[in-house]
Amino acid sequence: MPGESLVSILWKFACANALPGHALLHLISPEVDPQEGWAPVRDAIDLKRLCRMLRVPSSMLSASLSGAAPHDRYHEVFRYCRQCAAHGYHSVLFQREDENLCPAHHQSLQTRCPHCNGETPYILNAGVIGAPFRCGWCHSHYSYGRLSLLSTTSAMRRQDRIAISRRLRLGSAGGDTCIETSQ
Ligand SMILES: [Zn+2]
Ligand SMILES: [Zn+2]
Repeated sequence: MPGESLVSILWKFACANALPGHALLHLISPEVDPQEGWAPVRDAIDLKRLCRMLRVPSSMLSASLSGAAPHDRYHEVFRYCRQCAAHGYHSVLFQREDENLCPAHHQSLQTRCPHCNGETPYILNAGVIGAPFRCGWCHSHYSYGRLSLLSTTSAMRRQDRIAISRRLRLGSAGGDTCIETSQ
């Protein structure tokens, strides 16, 4: 999905491969304590390693991370659109300080859990990866019910993808891919 955040991608990858959060984070960055984790910003992650592991283009992974420059200010708590969460989607766009609405569903972005009112930090750690599209505190779903992360159908409608792409102004993401990198 355009602009899908690394958190959203890793939730699906962990589910598809039945990997517990701490095991996945250890594979991405063995030197970091998986309980503490790290912020999903470009400078904090070894993109080449991640690219080899997930087998997706590095341009896509780079776009899935927030920038670390001062003008790239992002929310430090997880912000979501409830309808996107119901489709198993979270965008880097939602973390930007200057974004307040989901471009696809025109709903305000939320930070608080509908059940316990808690806010989950926007961090890649074992607790967050272990609770896909759920509150980090009480584990309630951010969407309206359970969702199947293992579904292979295209979850978001075409017009929703277009609305998000437009907002991202993805343009021509260069050919900097490493799909063919051999093991
Ligand atoms: Zn949405
Ligand atoms: Zn909660």
